[in-house]
Amino acid sequence: MTTERLYYTDAYRATFDARVVTCAPNAASGAPASYLVELDVTAFYPTSGGQPFDTGTLGDARVIDVTDDEDGRVLHVVDASLTTGDRVTGTIDWHRRFEHMQQHTGQHVLSAAFDRLYANRTESFHLGADSCSIDLAREMSAREVAAAVDEANRVVWEDRPVTVRFVSAEEAAALPLRKEPARQGMLRLVEVADFDLSACGGTHVARTGGIGIIVVSGWEKFRGGSRVQFLCGVRARRRFDLWRDALAATMKHLSLSPEELAAGIERLQAESKSLQRSLRAANEKLAVHEARGLVGRGTRFGQRLVIVEAVPDLDAAGLKAMAVAAAAEPGAAAILFSAQSPALVVVACHTAAEVDAAATLKALIARFGGKGGGKPDLAQGGGLDASSDTLVAAARKLLEVGF
Ligand SMILES: [Zn+2]
Repeated sequence: MTTERLYYTDAYRATFDARVVTCAPNAASGAPASYLVELDVTAFYPTSGGQPFDTGTLGDARVIDVTDDEDGRVLHVVDASLTTGDRVTGTIDWHRRFEHMQQHTGQHVLSAAFDRLYANRTESFHLGADSCSIDLAREMSAREVAAAVDEANRVVWEDRPVTVRFVSAEEAAALPLRKEPARQGMLRLVEVADFDLSACGGTHVARTGGIGIIVVSGWEKFRGGSRVQFLCGVRARRRFDLWRDALAATMKHLSLSPEELAAGIERLQAESKSLQRSLRAANEKLAVHEARGLVGRGTRFGQRLVIVEAVPDLDAAGLKAMAVAAAAEPGAAAILFSAQSPALVVVACHTAAEVDAAATLKALIARFGGKGGGKPDLAQGGGLDASSDTLVAAARKLLEVGF
């Protein structure tokens, strides 16, 4: 038995009475338990044509999904069992439904605007939880998008009637439909007065004014055409609030107007890069200076000058510069750790030290974890998991006693 769909003729019907035709455990779903309910009539919209299902209640049961099957039945997935044959009151979540009606009707108007102005056909439509998009056959310029949005909003603000009627396939063939209908038999046509005529099974507002506003939040090239993201009515208002808050916070930090933001951020990024370069150069100079102290504190072990320390407040580049500067001293073998844990490490060796830096690093990593690599004269790594004291003692032992 097919379900009578109340939303076909009255999209504003939010409550209704129905008879429970069947209620069966939902075999497809796991825990928590859910049931599949079929009614004689319903106002619940099942996921189809790019529009998501309605939520709400059937008696005391919550409706958590709605689908339709190939036999024309609407199946409600609910969280509690209902009794077959009982009368039940259905209530749909009107906020969710109305929001979908705004997006869906807005899509008809926006698609028609692209079609009428630029003969750019809508290939598909997606109405998601946060965003809506249409895929257009061809690419669009910014000027064309702006013109289509202007045209679509003109139609919204003229508050034109949006009507529904049913026609046979033969009758439809003689009508100027925006898109070839995909289905056979009786067709449901949705008409935006003097602007758009499409076959559609979705829910729409009764007049275009109900869409509120249509805005395009972005577009990109997609499969040879373009994908246009848009928002209507309550979603456009919510997005405005989100962007207003984000923009206000950013402007407050940067003391810039919206028009100056992009250039201002670009300038700050350039300044930051230049500062980083200066800082790196200063750190390297400082490292060379500090390396003299390291050499002074080193201990002789035969021909070898053993230098092992944990150095606070230096990044990998600073550690490396300092170790390399220390290893310029004849016979020096320097192992420097960062002071934090897990630690960075650099091993730098003068040829006369007769120590393989890469092999030494490998031995440290084998013992303390982390990763890294290098050559016989210079190796570096990170992620060594031990305290500075432990690392320094182990590294000293490696250089004085060997592996
Ligand atoms: Zn529609």
